[in-house]
Amino acid sequence: MLVLAIESSCDETAAALVRDGRTVLSSVVNSQIASHRPYGGVVPEIASRAHVEAFPAVVAAAVQEAGVPWSAIDCIAVTHGPGLVSSLLVGLSGARALGQALHVPVYGINHMEGHLAALFLDPAVPDPDAVSPALVLMVSGGHSCILEMRTFGDYRILGETLDDAAGECLDKGATLLGLSYPGGPAIQAAATGDPHFVEFPRGLAHTARTATTPDGLDLRLCLSFSGLKTSLRYYLQTHPDALPDHLPDLAASYQEAVMRALAERAENAARKTRAKTLFAVGGVAKNALLRAKLADLSRRRHLDLHLTPLAYCTDNAAMIGAACGLRLLRHLPLPLALDADPTLPLVDA
Ligand code: ZN
Repeated sequence: MLVLAIESSCDETAAALVRDGRTVLSSVVNSQIASHRPYGGVVPEIASRAHVEAFPAVVAAAVQEAGVPWSAIDCIAVTHGPGLVSSLLVGLSGARALGQALHVPVYGINHMEGHLAALFLDPAVPDPDAVSPALVLMVSGGHSCILEMRTFGDYRILGETLDDAAGECLDKGATLLGLSYPGGPAIQAAATGDPHFVEFPRGLAHTARTATTPDGLDLRLCLSFSGLKTSLRYYLQTHPDALPDHLPDLAASYQEAVMRALAERAENAARKTRAKTLFAVGGVAKNALLRAKLADLSRRRHLDLHLTPLAYCTDNAAMIGAACGLRLLRHLPLPLALDADPTLPLVDA
């Protein structure tokens, strides 16, 4: 089963050819980071225009790199949500046009399931059934949640952020520290100082056993980053001479607070489930400190740890092809990609 996959939900225009959900023949990503850097975040209008410009060349390059004829493509998989609606629509329109030209079906893939499927692009990771039930820490610029994967396609959200996503928190912290966008890699590079120079708050200090969100999620498994960002701003206001001398210490302390919050919530979730595996997926899963904390957690709690290959942590189309292939092989429902859904949930309410 050869899938041509397309991803355009945020600021990467990407296309890939993936065989049977696990083998990447090509993966082309056109990043728009430079266009958004002056604004410290993604500007939707700039993103959708850049997708339109990049789309034809990115798809052609993916097919050419794979070294297969167009006629070998069995179907097209395209992200139909969640994401920026104007960006999603570019990928969807392109995918539908290609589907008509090639006379193949066009399937809509959930971007978050794509991030999860990226794990299985690592040949060392066993098939989904062998690693389930698994605890999944999904952390990126757009999403931060902890979920239980009963098996591929069957998920339960255990906790999520109540405000900013982890990647967004890193972006905002980087801006306050005068570092560049995207914030995660910039903070990691700058964080050579003392991670305990400032003890920033963990966010959500709820300890009550029964505390839940309005959606019924256990607050001990939820995240909140808005207080952390505010405390960095407050620290800089009250210590106007801290920069630039203490940049390495402040970056290290801020990074420590974000990654500690994620690892603590993952540990709380591990106590509440019978998961035998721990996964980390999404752009923030690239962070070396988070990877080290999760390795420590998995040793202590006897969990098998699988981290997304670094090349597939941030947005790409190979992960969309993986999700589509895994769904097809497992005879799971696949919607025909008709419309963009910017708030598409991973789990139906
Ligand atoms: Zn993403």
